[in-house]
Amino acid sequence: MDGGPIRIGVSACLLGRKVRYDGRHKHDPYLTGALGPLFEWVPVCPEVECGLPVPREAMRLVGDPAQPRLVTIDSGTDHTDRMRIWAEERLRQIESLGLRGFVLKRNSPSCGTEGVAIHDAGGRPIAHGAGCWARALAERFPGLPAVDEERLKDPAVLAWFVEGARKGAATAGRR
Ligand code: SF4
Repeated sequence: MDGGPIRIGVSACLLGRKVRYDGRHKHDPYLTGALGPLFEWVPVCPEVECGLPVPREAMRLVGDPAQPRLVTIDSGTDHTDRMRIWAEERLRQIESLGLRGFVLKRNSPSCGTEGVAIHDAGGRPIAHGAGCWARALAERFPGLPAVDEERLKDPAVLAWFVEGARKGAATAGRR
């Protein structure tokens, strides 16, 4: 690839899109400011793109840590299948977009790359893992660099991410 901006997928709320469950955003000025010239951002919000409204009920991961489900906290509505069906099609689109990496919102039950709490049926945390969208991305594109916005602020992680993205989607692992 040439030395121009690298096309990177990003959780849409990090760019300032008001797509979060509470109707707000999580704009990260580091992404749009310092890193802006480096990357061409392709925003994705899995929860809104799979058909959920803004605002919406907050969700969490529940059940088997190897295959957790995406369930709303108050009403217990299970959105796992809705998300899975949407993700299958979106992953096909992403393949054709030639993205070189993903920056994903930390701690989200959909976007978090790691360390997201997984609960038992009673709401007690029993394990930690990736959000359902981050997990689907990693399964489909195991070599695609994926990192959350906080870890990207570590210069060593940024260097790893940029190098992996410039080399191409299949050449770098997760970090
Ligand atoms: S964390 Fe992911 S699912 Fe949640 S609002 Fe941001 S982009 Fe949408």
